[in-house]
Amino acid sequence: MQGRATIHKVIEFVRAKLPGFSKCTLIDMAPQTGIRQTRLLEGAYVMTKEDVAQRTRFEDSVARGRDYYYPYRTLLPRSVENLLVAGRHYSATSAAQKISREIPPCMAMGEATGTAAALALNAGVSVREVDIARLQKTLRAQGADPGDQKGPNADVPAIARSFAKEAA
Ligand SMILES: Cc1cc2nc3c(=O)[nH]c(=O)nc-3n(C[C@H](O)[C@H](O)[C@H](O)COP(=O)(O)OP(=O)(O)OC[C@H]3O[C@@H](n4cnc5c(N)ncnc54)[C@H](O)[C@@H]3O)c2cc1C
Repeated sequence: MQGRATIHKVIEFVRAKLPGFSKCTLIDMAPQTGIRQTRLLEGAYVMTKEDVAQRTRFEDSVARGRDYYYPYRTLLPRSVENLLVAGRHYSATSAAQKISREIPPCMAMGEATGTAAALALNAGVSVREVDIARLQKTLRAQGADPGDQKGPNADVPAIARSFAKEAA
């Protein structure tokens, strides 16, 4: 309700102050408020801001963002059994989630967890016991990039360091 009231104030402001907007009208408002961060999973691994910023590589990487990587353990609860978590509430610190909650990797996490669940069912094991190498291979075969192999952006920090060295 506060957001809606603010929008009306903004409309009054732009009508009065912004050239060309004196006759502007409001067409629509979002039906509900979008929330960027609420609860975060406590997973077998908690992603840190440094992991995202330094593009840390993980042996059990199953999804990737632009050039940062999500280990399977960040989708696996620390204590609850046979549950996987995909999306913006994955296991990360608040600061790490802030810079890694983008839509494409949320979708990639969904594909990774769905595929892991299917592999677990087929193998008759819990999701904690999924064969990670097999999961990565299956994701690749589906056209996904689990981020377990070096990609074009994999060495960004090393490249940045060499530029800094040359410039010095
Ligand atoms: C205002 C805003 C702007 C953003 N801008 C960008 C951007 O420009 N680019 C970008 O990459 N990211 C952006 N983000 C971040 C990104 O949108 C989210 O991090 C991402 O979409 C999260 O995906 P998700 O699948 O985890 O959750 P969501 O996309 O929120 O999906 C969760 C779904 O679960 C449904 N749901 C909830 N409870 C239940 C229930 N009990 N039963 C059944 N269904 C349920 C919800 O209705 C929803 O459809 C933005 C976020 C916000 C809030």
